[in-house]
Amino acid sequence: MNSEKIIYQNNEAFAQQLDNADALAKYRNQFHFPKDNTGNTLLYFCGNSLGLQPKNVRAYIEQELLDWENLGVEGHFHAKHPWMPYHEFLTEKMANIVGAKPIEVVVMNTLTVNLHLMMVSFYRPTKTKYKIVIEKNAFPSDQYAVQSQINFHGFDCKDALIELTPRENEDIIFTDDIEKVIAEQGDSIALIMLGGVNYYTGQAFDMKRITEVAHQKNIVVGFDLAHAAGNLFLQLHDWNVDFAVWCSYKYLNSGPGGIAGCFVHEKHATDKTLPRFAGWWSNDKQKRFLMQPEFNAIDGAEGWQLSNPSILAMASLRASLDIFDEVGMEKLAEKSKQLTAYLEFLINELKNDAIEIITPKDTKQRGAQLSIRIKNSNKNFFHQLTATGVVCDWREPDVIRLAPVPLYNSFLDVYQFVQKLKLVLS
Ligand SMILES: *Cc1c(COP(=O)(O)O)cnc(C)c1O
Repeated sequence: MNSEKIIYQNNEAFAQQLDNADALAKYRNQFHFPKDNTGNTLLYFCGNSLGLQPKNVRAYIEQELLDWENLGVEGHFHAKHPWMPYHEFLTEKMANIVGAKPIEVVVMNTLTVNLHLMMVSFYRPTKTKYKIVIEKNAFPSDQYAVQSQINFHGFDCKDALIELTPRENEDIIFTDDIEKVIAEQGDSIALIMLGGVNYYTGQAFDMKRITEVAHQKNIVVGFDLAHAAGNLFLQLHDWNVDFAVWCSYKYLNSGPGGIAGCFVHEKHATDKTLPRFAGWWSNDKQKRFLMQPEFNAIDGAEGWQLSNPSILAMASLRASLDIFDEVGMEKLAEKSKQLTAYLEFLINELKNDAIEIITPKDTKQRGAQLSIRIKNSNKNFFHQLTATGVVCDWREPDVIRLAPVPLYNSFLDVYQFVQKLKLVLS
C-alpha cells in the first residue's frame, strides 16, 4: 500500500484485497457506526462533518464523572488526570496533528470563537493596510467572523474584503491567482485568512507557498483548518503560518460541539505587545489563584485562553487523540490518498456524463474529501441515495460531499458506495 501507483480494479474482490493489505484496517473496529432501523450498518462518509465516536470515549468520560463524583472540587488536583492542567495532556498530541511545537498549540473554546480571538491579535488594520483576503465560497461562519471584524475596526467590507473567486467555468482557486492578488494589492492587505481545505470543493490550498508569498508583503497569514486537521499532513511551524484555528468534531472525532484547537507560531509566543483579550486562564499559572490584579500572559498559545475549559469535552478529545497518536498523521495521510483515489477511480468508471468531480485531481490539492456535482439534479437525488443506506451530505445547488476517512472507512465501503450511486443514477 505504500506505492502511489496501484492499478485499481473495479470489483469487490479487489476492494477486499486492498483492505486485507491495509495496516490501518484494524482501527475501523475502534469506532461505532450508525445503523438503520433494521440494524444494518450504514455506509458513513460524513466524517468531514461529524467524525464517528471512538469506542474508548465512554471510558475516558466516565473516569471524569467518577472523579467528580468521588472528589468534588479536589478533582482539580487529585483526579486521575487532574483537571487543573488537563488541557496540557492534549497539547503535544494536538501539536503533532498540525505539525507544530507544543508551545504553539492549545485546545480551547470552539472554532469561530478562536478565530475572533486570533483576529483580535493578528488583524491590526491601519489606514493604508487594512484588507482581508478570504475565499468567496468560504464557510459562512468564517465569512461572518471576518466581515464583523472589518466592521468592528470601522472599515467597509465593500472595499476591505477581498474575496478570491474561481476563474470562469472553474470551481477551484489557482495558487497563481492568489499570488496575483498579493502582488497587486499586497500593500493594502493586512490579513489572509483561508480555509486550509475548502469545505465545499475539498480543495487543499498550498499553505506553505501562500504564507511565503504573503510574508514578503508583510501580510499576516492565518488558516482555518476545520477540514484539514486530522486530514492532511500539516507542518504549520515549518510553513511559518502566523496562526490557525480548527474544530475537533470533524476528522478529529471529538463529538458534537467538541473543544477546538488553536495555533500561534512560536515567533509570536513571547510578544507581549500584541493586543489580546485576556482572562484568568491566560494569566501566569503560578499567580492565577492569587487572584491579584496584575496580568502576565503565559508564553505561547496558552496565553490566549480565557476560561477554565470543559473537562468532559477534553476527555472526549483526549480519547480520540490517543488513537491519532498511535497511528500518526503520515500513515493516515498515505492511506487517505489511496482511499480517495480509489473512490475517484470507481466514480470515473461509471462513465456517466452527469457526474463531475469538482475536487482537484492533483493529490497535493486535496485530502479525504471528494465533492461531486450531479448535473441537472436536485435534493431528491440525494434523498434517493440516502435511502440506500448511505450517510453523506448535500450542498446546494447540486453537490454531494463524500469523505472516505482513513481511520475508519474501508476500500469495501468505497466500492459499495459506488454500486449504490450507480443504482440511483440509473
Ligand atoms: C465546520 C466549520 C466551522 C464551524 O464553526 P464552529 O465555530 O465550530 O461552529 C467554521 N468554519 C469552517 C471552515 C468549518 O468547516
